[in-house]
Amino acid sequence: MTDNPRIAIIGAGMGGLAAAASLRRLGFMAQVYEQAERFTRIGAGIQMSPNAMWALRGLGLDGHIRRTAFQPRTWNNRVWDTGAEMFELPLGQAAEDQFGAPYLQMHRGDLHAALLSAVPAQQISLGKRLVDVTPATDGFALSFADGGEATADLVVGADGVQSRVREILWGGERPLATGRVAYRATFPAALLRHPVGECTKWWGPDRHIVIYYVTKTKDEVYFVTSLPDQAWVHESWSATGDMNVVREAFDSFHEEVREVLRACPVVHRWAILERAPLERWYGGGMVLIGDAAHPMTPYMAQGAAMAIEDGVILARALEETSDIERGLAVFEATRKARTAQVQAVSHANTWMREATDPTWCYGYNPWIEALNF
Ligand SMILES: Cc1cc2nc3c(=O)[nH]c(=O)nc-3n(C[C@H](O)[C@H](O)[C@H](O)COP(=O)(O)OP(=O)(O)OC[C@H]3O[C@@H](n4cnc5c(N)ncnc54)[C@H](O)[C@@H]3O)c2cc1C
Repeated sequence: MTDNPRIAIIGAGMGGLAAAASLRRLGFMAQVYEQAERFTRIGAGIQMSPNAMWALRGLGLDGHIRRTAFQPRTWNNRVWDTGAEMFELPLGQAAEDQFGAPYLQMHRGDLHAALLSAVPAQQISLGKRLVDVTPATDGFALSFADGGEATADLVVGADGVQSRVREILWGGERPLATGRVAYRATFPAALLRHPVGECTKWWGPDRHIVIYYVTKTKDEVYFVTSLPDQAWVHESWSATGDMNVVREAFDSFHEEVREVLRACPVVHRWAILERAPLERWYGGGMVLIGDAAHPMTPYMAQGAAMAIEDGVILARALEETSDIERGLAVFEATRKARTAQVQAVSHANTWMREATDPTWCYGYNPWIEALNF
């Protein structure tokens, strides 16, 4: 693209920051508008598989992340009560040799801080909740809840599962509640009476729990559950939960699970939401990326990875085409099949339940993957 379009990114989450950093790397300027007044470090872990690490390496963040992240030797899948092994995926150096990039686990706040370090502070406007986007004589007019306004040639909706940009673009259809909730917590490993597995998913009949370390020194441990709960549908980064409810829900699970839940002091909870794959991702000067375009259940640990890959591919598609409309068409065509496949596998919750070859997912480097022109 010869012109330098004015790009507004809505949302400074994983996808928005990855898009801003990727666009910057390829010579574009983007302004990020985030509704939050400040960033908070809520207790959640996140897994970054090799495909996401390729994206982050291209942004110069590999070293930054490795300084604090934990590299598990395996991902172990075990039966909820007996602990019998169902499938063990080799990670550590084996995965790094196979895929060319590591599989790492970290605090979500550490990943967010790494992405923030790749975007100059003046390119991020906080306290800016997008209310509307309307056509203007000179591009598109953005209005914000604080009364502020901005103009852009392209609006990137990186505003998550409850996306306002998606609503403006395609109307107010709500995300689907799966009838399940995720309880999540990070806490000091010193509270445990004994060490636990490096990364284990405990598979129960109608519920599961994933437990792993989130720091290189293994001094912080994390768990995330999926539990049936028809009543609760809020998607929030900050709703607290009741640890006694979690302990009770897993009281017949293996002793290692019960020890983690015994030791955990405070927990947050999320309703697990998803949406069916979207037909069109762009129109009227707007494009959707990340959870705004393709939210998914967290059962493959790929939602943020997909958002980050989107950011890289969007920047490449704009760089390698002559105008915005063409760039968005190439972006959508390149991303649709892959994200729909990840949505479907995540929905089924079969990933790693038995012997699984993750090459199609982990062996994707968004910086060199062929674009679909
Ligand atoms: C329980 C659970 C576990 C998970 N584990 C993993 C994992 O291990 N690995 C992984 O890859 N993914 C994981 N995910 C998925 C991952 O968290 C999401 O897919 C990812 O955060 C999506 O990134 P995003 O940038 O699209 O949206 P978000 O991270 O949700 O960011 C959206 C941003 O937009 C802002 N915003 C929203 N509306 C507006 C508005 N109107 N104006 C301005 N700003 C706005 C929000 O404040 C937010 O900062 C998990 C998800 C859950 C629920």
